[in-house]
Amino acid sequence: MTLTPPPLRDDCFALPAGTHWTPVDEALALLRDRLGPVTGVETVPLGEALDRVLAEDVLALRSNPPVANSAVDGYGLCHADVGEGPQKIPLVQGRAAAGAPYGGVLASGYGVRVLTGAALPEGVDTVILQEDVTTNGAEIAFHGPLKKGANTRRAGEDVTKGDRLFAAGHVLGPAELALLAATGRGEVKLRNRLRVAVLSTGDELAEPGTEARADQVYDANRPMLVAMLRRFGFCPVDLGRAPDDRAALRDLLDTAAGRADVILTSGGASAGDEDHMSALLQEAGAMSLWRIAVKPGRPLALGMWRGVPVFGLPGNPVAAMVCTLIFARPAMAQLAGQGWQEPARLMVPAGFAKSKKAGRREYLRARLRDGRAEVFASEGSGRISGLSWAEGLVELPDEAMEVEVDTPVTFIPYAGFGL
Ligand code: AMP
Ligand code: MG
Repeated sequence: MTLTPPPLRDDCFALPAGTHWTPVDEALALLRDRLGPVTGVETVPLGEALDRVLAEDVLALRSNPPVANSAVDGYGLCHADVGEGPQKIPLVQGRAAAGAPYGGVLASGYGVRVLTGAALPEGVDTVILQEDVTTNGAEIAFHGPLKKGANTRRAGEDVTKGDRLFAAGHVLGPAELALLAATGRGEVKLRNRLRVAVLSTGDELAEPGTEARADQVYDANRPMLVAMLRRFGFCPVDLGRAPDDRAALRDLLDTAAGRADVILTSGGASAGDEDHMSALLQEAGAMSLWRIAVKPGRPLALGMWRGVPVFGLPGNPVAAMVCTLIFARPAMAQLAGQGWQEPARLMVPAGFAKSKKAGRREYLRARLRDGRAEVFASEGSGRISGLSWAEGLVELPDEAMEVEVDTPVTFIPYAGFGL
């Protein structure tokens, strides 16, 4: 048999002909359609609810503010008692302070000392700022007219009892906790944290902090993936490293499926002799998607293992991170009960030039400087340093694109992915 060499290609990532490369949007649509919430529900004190997912809609237990109160330190009046021009109004004894109400009804024609946050005494509908009056302690003098309701906060002007504050799936940040607390909620019904198994594969991998042979590489993906999962609010289950051995990997996947709701592996997802992840998923007949038209990221193996979704990420750390952000994160959000999460995209002028070929979507490590997106000098997906150099990704469309300096491009800051 004679061997004929394949045609030369100038791009080692060019998509081989004769294979169907699934477009990114098609892969995302499949994940979105097939995956739903898998996490259970528990009731949790508010103080432990940060970054957790609401399991049900939350209604306001009471209004905010609960009663009308003063927005400033000043004097409470009845608007009908105040005319135009110079005014002199006698003060009643006593005052209204936050947490210490006046108690009585303000007599017509009088004013009362009020402090910020104090419930407005009955008879008071308007407050004049203390800086706008002169007083001898018995009366106040100021200039009218006043606007009715000035310097007061209406009961329920922020939130009314029974209002829906947040929908199920909402992730609770500090601001959400403030509103829940303000409306009196001490505990909330939350989804359990999504448990995500993380497993690195490859005979070449060594543990950072240990001696490594010259031909070994330290496992960079596991710390990265575990950290990303924490940022996403999930619960990482670190399963360590698997050798390039099919039986050992099979056992570890079984363990992972028993301990987690979703599995992230890295390495061995390609079609080489030692690519056991893709082989196992194929063998189990559980490979749903493999060849996705994305750079970096080819190949990404998506499948199920004992009913648990598996993301067989590429071994290259850059590709592993990009695939996690683009594919695994929205899918995991869906599994976690948050619903589908689109990253927050910005259109910004390019600070670089690039001639992009048609056929697959590309993500470049990028950051904003002087209002433009600049990209990392190398697109090599082994260049781990580019990930921390960058502050986000530039997303170039599936189609061909000529980017010149100042061409608008899509920039997704890491924060837009929840990192
Ligand atoms: P693979 O996808 O297994 O063919 O691996 C692709 C490249 O990524 C190889 O150069 C691997 O050595 C490297 N790689 C795989 N896993 C890791 C890891 N956990 N940390 C750092 N590099 C890795
Ligand atoms: Mg490998």
